[in-house]
Amino acid sequence: MKSFSVKKILKEKDALLEGHFVLSSGLHSNRYVQCAKVLQYPKIAEQFSKVLVKKIATHCDVVISPAIGGIIIGYEVARQLRVHAIFCERENGAMNLRRGFEIKKNERCLIVEDVITTGGSTKEVIDVVKSYGGKVIGVASIIDRSTRVIAKFIWRPVSLLKLKIEIYNPKDCPLCKKKIPLVKPGSRTNVRLGCSHRSEK
Ligand SMILES: [Zn+2]
Repeated sequence: MKSFSVKKILKEKDALLEGHFVLSSGLHSNRYVQCAKVLQYPKIAEQFSKVLVKKIATHCDVVISPAIGGIIIGYEVARQLRVHAIFCERENGAMNLRRGFEIKKNERCLIVEDVITTGGSTKEVIDVVKSYGGKVIGVASIIDRSTRVIAKFIWRPVSLLKLKIEIYNPKDCPLCKKKIPLVKPGSRTNVRLGCSHRSEK
């Protein structure tokens, strides 16, 4: 499967929206990604994972994902690799293993995520693995939005699609200037907000 068709599938299932969006941070962007929209279809999760598994091409003992976004794709990748899947989640702001999950010393851990944005959560999962004495053997994601190499690894994350998403401060958002309707994604219906910054320069 080429990245072109991955993008097409994401768009077909509204997992990748293009336009003018206001993010929860208040910043604006030209694209919005919600992998849950596509991972609700087991067949697609299976297809995506198949390509990832091929690209990963190395042995691991366990797949570890950050909750919630990484759980489905991590589980499916693990199923195809015939290993087990665990996940990290935040407790009081810090990423950690809960629910009795553990990583044994020197276990080969593959980190699987839905979207890598800044690599911040990836770095946190890497730190969790290290704290248990595990070895990170790779990072894989459906979409890689990051623009730099995560941590000090010799490899880049394996992904199905590299995607650039422009983020703008509302004050100098070119999409606002073009008067493209502003949408708040993720709500029950994608609410069209109009452009609230029209009066600003
Ligand atoms: Zn804008």
